[in-house]
Amino acid sequence: MSQTVLVINSGSSSVKYQLIDPESGHAIAKGLAERIGEPEGHIQHRYSQKAVDLNEPLPDHGVALTEILRLFDEVGPALADADIVAVGHRIVQGGRYFDGPALIDDRVRNLIDELSTLAPLHNPAHLKGIDVARRLLPNVPHVAVFDTAFFQSLPPEAATYALDREIAEKYSVRRYGAHGTSHQYVSKRVSTILGARDLKQIVLHLGNGASASAIVGDKAIDTSMGLTPLEGLVMGTRTGDIDPAVVFHLERVAGMSVDEVDTLFNKKSGLKGLTGDNDMRGVREMAKSGDPEARKRARVALNIYVNRILKYIGSFTAEMGGVDVITFTAGIGENDIDLRREVCEQLVPFGVVLDEEANNQRVSEPITISKRGSSVRVMVVPTNEELAIAKQALTLV
Ligand code: AMP
Repeated sequence: MSQTVLVINSGSSSVKYQLIDPESGHAIAKGLAERIGEPEGHIQHRYSQKAVDLNEPLPDHGVALTEILRLFDEVGPALADADIVAVGHRIVQGGRYFDGPALIDDRVRNLIDELSTLAPLHNPAHLKGIDVARRLLPNVPHVAVFDTAFFQSLPPEAATYALDREIAEKYSVRRYGAHGTSHQYVSKRVSTILGARDLKQIVLHLGNGASASAIVGDKAIDTSMGLTPLEGLVMGTRTGDIDPAVVFHLERVAGMSVDEVDTLFNKKSGLKGLTGDNDMRGVREMAKSGDPEARKRARVALNIYVNRILKYIGSFTAEMGGVDVITFTAGIGENDIDLRREVCEQLVPFGVVLDEEANNQRVSEPITISKRGSSVRVMVVPTNEELAIAKQALTLV
């Protein structure tokens, strides 16, 4: 077996993992431990043609990772023979401290801990994964790869809110962005495929979470997510951009607490709030259903979704003084043919010409979906955050 990287993505009650060959990009084994801390835990481990399910309580991340390592030994591949050169940990918030991957030592660990106030749901969960993984795999370097790192290059005009300067400074309130690993990976692939280094790119990462970024050359100059991943595009359960005065209004007229509004904006809004379904496939079904009310609700939600994307394409194009390539990625961007068509139809007045036949394909490789002669090239590039994390981790070992 050639050299491999174990990529770990710890959430509050889950651990996703992949053993990757960073050269070929092949995921040799992968799995998910979920419902950690609940009475019924579950792990699925996949290797070769095998998928093994384990149903047992996983009281904490330590037990979950111990079980995962046991599954590697029992089901394969044996980690001792896997030539693991690094463990890459996905970290949501790197604040101002990290503009690239970092070898995890006690200092880096403490900084990730310090940043928990900016990512209270994520950073503490990542730390649990890091602590256990460092204990169980002590002889391999552990590398933190930050979702925010790619956006540390944002110029002040994109990174700064028009807020009282002292308060913003004192409480680290600024725009950090998120999904940076995906935006960097996808934009790099576009540059490589087109053999051009000075492109003006817009990347639309449309998954359950969704974000847009503006990239000039290899640097991000703006992005739609802000202090947290709530700002920007409409998402599965998140509002995206919303007047902050809605918070004050709901507090005053509905007596809602800050925590209640936080839950409302992050978990009960977006596609879910508008239609009852957070999954784009469900919303598409609803838009075709026999129930005229449901059809209308779904159609309005889809129009809001597209509109928000158009706002970002427009503003990013103006900020960059033009755009060469617009790229769709992640679950919706890679699979929702109708959404790509709906966005591109609105860009016809700007010279964008969609190649319907190319757009109708579902492929796992990058493709161009605009016609020759289109003023802007439009592409679909599958993202692969785990591979991007593995490659970044390798740069430090
Ligand atoms: P991700 O977070 O990248 O896994 O993306 C999840 C989103 O992709 C969900 O909203 C899914 O409904 C959506 N998705 C996956 N496949 C399709 C498809 N064929 N058509 C429309 N949306 C899809």
